[in-house]
Amino acid sequence: MSIRISKETCVGCLACIRVCPGSLIKEKDGKAFIKYPRDCWGCASCVKECRFGAIDFYLGADMGGNGTVMNVSVEGDRLLWNITRPDGTVRMIEVDGKNSNKY
Ligand code: SF4
Ligand code: SF4
Repeated sequence: MSIRISKETCVGCLACIRVCPGSLIKEKDGKAFIKYPRDCWGCASCVKECRFGAIDFYLGADMGGNGTVMNVSVEGDRLLWNITRPDGTVRMIEVDGKNSNKY
């Protein structure tokens, strides 16, 4: 399980670096990148912290994801969990940002 950070979408706020419990994300030229992808255990902290939808989180076969990708964007107090399946279908789940750590 791992993540991918979009260089194009990342604005360099570095919030993901601060929350990664394994210090796996680093900064270069004002952008975040995952330096140790194999060590990522999929806690999703960075995904939830990125307000810009720059982090894709792979849902592996162990979770029944089979190539499904999730990212999160923010609108006001709402977190929008965008889930894209391998066949291209997209499902959006809205979560109250104040309660996001319950999920
Ligand atoms: S939280 Fe998102 S926008 Fe901020 S540095 Fe990390 S990937 Fe980039
Ligand atoms: S999912 Fe968790 S362990 Fe993996 S890079 Fe993000 S914060 Fe670090």
